[in-house]
Amino acid sequence: MLEDCKYRELLEENRKLRESVIHLREYDPVTNLYNREAFCASAERTIRQTPQTRFEIICIDIERFKLINELYGREQGDLLLKYVAEQLKCLVREETHIAGNLRDDVFALCIPAYEEEVTVERILRIFSDKPLNSQAVPAVGVYRMDAEEPAAGSMCDRALMALNSIKGNDHHVAVYREGMRENLLREQEITNSMAAGIQNKEFKIYMQPKCNMETGKVVGAEVLVRWQHPEKGLLLPGEFVPLFEKNHFIEKLDLYVWEETAAWVRRWLERGRACVPVSVNLSRMDIFNMDVCSVLTDLMERYQIPTGLIELEITESVYAGQPERIIKETERLKKSGFTILMDDFGNGYSSLNMLSSTNIDILKMDMRFMEGEGLKSLGILDAILHMSKWLNLPVIAEGVNREQHVKTLRSVGCVYGQGFYYYRPMNTEEFEHLLLTPGKVDFADGGRKKVGSGHFLDLTDLFHKDTLTDRLLGNITGAVAQYSYDGTRLCVLRANGEYYRLMDEYWMNKSGHVDVMRDILPEDREKMTDALSRAKESKEKEGAEVFVRKRRGNTVLWLRIRFFCLTSQYGNDIFYAALSDETVRMNSIESLRISEERFRLAMEATNTVIFELDTETRTAYYSEYAQKAFGLDATVANAPEGFIEQGTVCEGYEETFREIYRAIYRGEDKASCVVRAKMGDGSTVLNRITLTAIRDKEGSTVKAVGMVENVSCSEVEDEEK
Ligand code: C2E
Ligand code: CA
Ligand code: CA
Repeated sequence: MLEDCKYRELLEENRKLRESVIHLREYDPVTNLYNREAFCASAERTIRQTPQTRFEIICIDIERFKLINELYGREQGDLLLKYVAEQLKCLVREETHIAGNLRDDVFALCIPAYEEEVTVERILRIFSDKPLNSQAVPAVGVYRMDAEEPAAGSMCDRALMALNSIKGNDHHVAVYREGMRENLLREQEITNSMAAGIQNKEFKIYMQPKCNMETGKVVGAEVLVRWQHPEKGLLLPGEFVPLFEKNHFIEKLDLYVWEETAAWVRRWLERGRACVPVSVNLSRMDIFNMDVCSVLTDLMERYQIPTGLIELEITESVYAGQPERIIKETERLKKSGFTILMDDFGNGYSSLNMLSSTNIDILKMDMRFMEGEGLKSLGILDAILHMSKWLNLPVIAEGVNREQHVKTLRSVGCVYGQGFYYYRPMNTEEFEHLLLTPGKVDFADGGRKKVGSGHFLDLTDLFHKDTLTDRLLGNITGAVAQYSYDGTRLCVLRANGEYYRLMDEYWMNKSGHVDVMRDILPEDREKMTDALSRAKESKEKEGAEVFVRKRRGNTVLWLRIRFFCLTSQYGNDIFYAALSDETVRMNSIESLRISEERFRLAMEATNTVIFELDTETRTAYYSEYAQKAFGLDATVANAPEGFIEQGTVCEGYEETFREIYRAIYRGEDKASCVVRAKMGDGSTVLNRITLTAIRDKEGSTVKAVGMVENVSCSEVEDEEK
């Protein structure tokens, strides 16, 4: 019997263990959803068992999830994944619905095709509800099952293919199309011919000059690769660089391009010619997978290239990935004498404050600012230029292809430009010809002229919390930002992490607007404007403080902002601000004010006056309203005699009046009387006075509350008559 019991226990334990092993094997530990294998297996099973239904696979990826992890911390990242997983679970209540977590932030659903529309809508809603305030944005790829359906694994791949086609752009949903597969095939062809391409020297370096927009002269050039493909003709980098970045061939290609560049510079110098600095592009992969610093210094030595003649462009998004590592690497490169350009700046990956911690030399402003007439994003452009002045960074605008661009850029103080308006990328022979053309090149201007002149405060220093605290802000730490203000728009130039947490926004959100004024409730904007002008008048000393409200979802965020005006440039004022969240405090002050106001109104409406009586000192305290009504001082000592001496109580009523006070002093709970009292304006009014005792924990009276009620028009008066 006992044996049997033990045996069953063991059996049960074994079953539990087996279950947990299966669980571990099949479920993602963070989201508790099926992992890829289990999801595929389960989907295939369901599809097989329900032959009359057409299914589809929907894959969901959280855009820039890495960045979310970085901004809010891994824990928050995991919370977000869990949240999404929970929401997806709610969408798969039926047996024919399956949810999975393919990897990290990639989720998948397998559902009947007729539910696509509703499901996609619900998925989007999960994110539009701003889970955990994270501003997470989804990319959704849909694969609609074919008559002869492939394995679930390749269905997922196709859904992912669709998803990848929209990653990083403004679309959120894409359905798999046949063309996508062709693209894949094309990619395959390229992959097959890339190694031979290097061997046969099919890759060529092209140069695109960079110009000083004030003089129109060439001050440098960027090296851009082209592929003279034996079958496909001349290929632009857009057709192969992204692919090489995926399949890691980019490292080989870049090594080749750098080598070719160094070789060209050497040959050119050997011909006794002067050269402008030329920049090469570095890929994220290069930095992570090779010792770029050693490779490049070795190259400079082998080809005897003078320091400064080869510069390095590193794209902004790289900095957003693993900032510490990149910052360290750029630091090393700089120590070895390289000039570092931050490429594609403003693409949306880095917040401005990232710049203060990266020690780069030149900013290359992304082409997207040049769309249309270049006026669309003038505010941002302006903000970047301001900020670059603060950081003492020269700026090169990319994609300058119209005269209007040049005008606009110059009006905001941008000196350098690169784009089709000046020159298209050209082969080395053409570039050599250009270098030799008299009057076209300025060999002394390396494209390093700072924007505007020097600045008056060291901002790196200023942004350091402690200095900040000491110098300007007393004991306020927390959210700080720099704004530029043109009289209407208040744009963020830089801000710290705390600021973004408080304001719940990236520096540039999707809509691209940076005007903080628009986030402030309309009725508070005047207060803001007023504070800004007060701050401007007071200069650095005290600044100006303001309490304003900002919408946050369905609630309102109360902000205390202290502005300091730092300087004015290009007709804009630059402010520095410390912000704090005063929502809790302001809400309680507000509710107190409202309740007092309500109380006062109620009192006035009922002709009732309330006062406080300190039973120990026998002093009565009156509100302003009561003081006015009865012509009394704020306090009346020695109650009740004090009132009688002042003549407040009309003749004949004194004894009744005294009696209620005596009752309270004796320890009674309540006492009331009706007396005729003289009012502030000399008239007499019949009042009912009620005193109510307030006791402490021991039960002794410490206070009383008096209530005076005008009963002139009531039955009491009629009776008296
Ligand atoms: P990027 O570094 O931002 O290079 C600038 C791109 O903008 C070049 O395209 C250039 O031809 C183009 N461009 C210049 N001015 C204008 C303009 O006024 N209007 C327009 N619409 N475009 C202009 P390209 O040569 O096709 O290169 C595309 C991207 O490929 C580059 O963008 C860079 O990210 C990458 N790339 C090019 N060469 C290399 C390389 O050797 N190594 C690596 N890792 N990446 C490279
Ligand atoms: Ca570049
Ligand atoms: Ca660029």
